[in-house]
Amino acid sequence: MSFEALGLHATIVKAVTESGYTIPTPVQAQAVPAAIAGRDLLVSSQTGSGKTAAFMLPALHKLVSAEPAAAPARTPAQDAQSARSRGERVRFTAAKPKMLVLTPTRELALQVTTATEKYGSYMRRIRAVSILGGMPYPKQMQLLSKNPEILVATPGRLIDHMESGKIDFSELEILVLDEADRMLDMGFIDDIEKIVAATPAGRQTMLFSATLDGVVGNMARRITKDPLVIQI
Ligand code: AMP
Repeated sequence: MSFEALGLHATIVKAVTESGYTIPTPVQAQAVPAAIAGRDLLVSSQTGSGKTAAFMLPALHKLVSAEPAAAPARTPAQDAQSARSRGERVRFTAAKPKMLVLTPTRELALQVTTATEKYGSYMRRIRAVSILGGMPYPKQMQLLSKNPEILVATPGRLIDHMESGKIDFSELEILVLDEADRMLDMGFIDDIEKIVAATPAGRQTMLFSATLDGVVGNMARRITKDPLVIQI
């Protein structure tokens, strides 16, 4: 089984091959084709199983397949930036990401962002940014003003930006909860519920967790639709 055979776009296969991967891991072999087909996923797997690529490769595939062939129209955020560079005062336009990855820690968020840059290195316009507690607000505002397609965030700081109108999830297509059990152990359940409630009901949801029992299993089933359950 090759990455090509999983149905991934050629630019993604190229980036993955250059990363030194030759064979998909078991979780990738199961998750990628199902996610490309649009299924929600509930995945029980450990760090080291290749879970980051299991959700990021099909997500990038979906985003690159939706890219227009011609140069895109300017976004409101780009117009605002040009006006700002001319010295005009403009209102901040909320970022409208297509994909959100929630992680329990800053370290994991940064790892996911780095992996995304690696897997998406041949894609023209897909940008991923990290929104993390402890990072200065002006820096984050600057990142959000570029209207990135992908946000990788810890729940608490994301809620701050949502509540102050800096992020609008009305165009979100893909939601990933990475290490969901750890996020619940850290007390993020209310934040997660609030974030999920702000996203469109028609989104694709992929949840990764060491366990799918108990509280995390209940939440997982509530926020997914007819999910493929993968236990590695
Ligand atoms: P993860 O479980 O996502 O934290 O990935 C664990 C490690 O495996 C990371 O260093 C990845 O770069 C690497 N990795 C992921 N998928 C593959 C693959 N198919 N072949 C070789 N290495 C991989």
